[in-house]
Amino acid sequence: MKRSVCLLLLGTVAALAALVAPGRAADDGRISFEYHRYEEMRKALVSAWLQCPSITRIYTIGESFEGRELLVLEMSDNPGTHEPGEPEFKYIGNMHGNEAVGRELIIYLAQYLCNQYQLGNETIINLIHNTRIHLMPSMNPDGFEKAASQSGEIKDWFVGRSNAQGVDLNRNFPDLDRIIYINERDGGANNHLLQNMKKAVDENSKLAPETKAVIHWIMDIPFVLSANLHGGDVVANYPYDETRTGSAHEYSASPDDSMFKSLARAYSIYNPIMSDPHRPPCRKNDDDSSFTDGITNGGAWYSVPGGMQDFNYLSSNCFEITLELSCDKFPSEDMLKTYWDQNRNSLVNYLEQVHRGVKGFVRDLQGNPISNASISVEGIDHDITTAKDGDYWRLLAPGNYKVAASAPGYLTVIKKVAVPYSPATRVDFEMESLMERKEEEKEELMDWWKMMSETLNF
Ligand code: ZN
Repeated sequence: MKRSVCLLLLGTVAALAALVAPGRAADDGRISFEYHRYEEMRKALVSAWLQCPSITRIYTIGESFEGRELLVLEMSDNPGTHEPGEPEFKYIGNMHGNEAVGRELIIYLAQYLCNQYQLGNETIINLIHNTRIHLMPSMNPDGFEKAASQSGEIKDWFVGRSNAQGVDLNRNFPDLDRIIYINERDGGANNHLLQNMKKAVDENSKLAPETKAVIHWIMDIPFVLSANLHGGDVVANYPYDETRTGSAHEYSASPDDSMFKSLARAYSIYNPIMSDPHRPPCRKNDDDSSFTDGITNGGAWYSVPGGMQDFNYLSSNCFEITLELSCDKFPSEDMLKTYWDQNRNSLVNYLEQVHRGVKGFVRDLQGNPISNASISVEGIDHDITTAKDGDYWRLLAPGNYKVAASAPGYLTVIKKVAVPYSPATRVDFEMESLMERKEEEKEELMDWWKMMSETLNF
């Protein structure tokens, strides 16, 4: 008797909880906090797609060395297309195959976003309606299988880190930092440093198939913001990762240092472990002296040449940071729910950062889009470019800026903009072509000449 009253009470409490926080208990209840081997990961993505078919799509950007697909779940109100004006975002997990937490969190995030969308969570609905989100749980599925195949709870610190060829994917990207450091000194391009070099990428035998696939992905889609999820420490790391002088530890600011700090902080602030100033280092001898508020400059921590984070910033319009999510690279399965709880709000809040700064369209006077126009900001030596529809997104920290749009054959237009923390300020540019300007000037001259000749009566 007592027992049934108790159950009844529990039932009432659960019903009340559901009323107070719609779906909160139910949504996490629909996520199974376990490890997903390759086939299970594929099935988990397919079931998110089957559950939310109108807002998801599964695609692959290529194959790993051993032939596993590099799967992506896309979430958008119009999956499969770039909508003019809508920014694109990506999360990449598990590029080090033995760093398993990020892989699982991205799978749970896909399930969470789908559940919340169906439950009517307005924040999530707005996010999916206004953003094209790409989720890649594993960039190194071969390494993960190797790491996961080890018997016992304790996994080796290095087994499965590299791809199946033994390549460390986060040292395998073209080292564009070396080029930008020369250009800073001697003059030269400050963005898109790999332009017109797609063929050279394809022919470069030192690049792993996983690296090549991701390079093409970065170059083909107008990504605005991204994060790359790792493990082995707990911190949000921002560019540059490679030091200017080649020294092992040295603060290496990018031109967008203040925005990158703000982005990294937008992640760490919602993670109670990452942002805890009294968190002891993961291991006794770890040097965490560069960490403040759960964030660090990459070079200040330790120099990484050939990393993916700096490659994004220097080869495309995409700003990427690197997230270290757990001291343990491959923790026991019963810890996964804890890591999800620590990171869920951070993962969503970081996604929302894609809607900051200045955004808009660059068009000619007839309203035709101008793609590949440069958007430059006074005082920040890093331009971004417009996408196919003339649309652009320029992430900026709060402040007053002078923003210029320029394109070959057009007069440069400069506008003053006040940027709040968020949302992004809309600034469109109408560009007059130099040809049109010349025609106008010629007509003005003709009019003047006609007037003069009439007045003087010649
Ligand atoms: Zn890593």
